[in-house]
Amino acid sequence: MNEEPSAEVIKGASANITYTLCPRCGEEDMYVDCLSRRDNKTMICTQCGTMEAMFDLSIQRYTRLGQKTEKEIEDMKRVERAWLD
Ligand SMILES: [Zn+2]
Repeated sequence: MNEEPSAEVIKGASANITYTLCPRCGEEDMYVDCLSRRDNKTMICTQCGTMEAMFDLSIQRYTRLGQKTEKEIEDMKRVERAWLD
């Protein structure tokens, strides 16, 4: 039986990149190499870094095309940042 890797949350942009718990998605043994765009200090996994970038892109698009109300966009942003609470 394989030993589970110890889960450790790494905070700080200068922390060494390693396989550990991603604080955004909660998955263990993730390659945590992206600086979160939400607080500019927490390191998150590659997939979460990509998701944050895509979220920001979609917000830009919704805003430019007027596809969402300001309230809808604020609600989306609040949910997006919920993992930091
Ligand atoms: Zn993640």
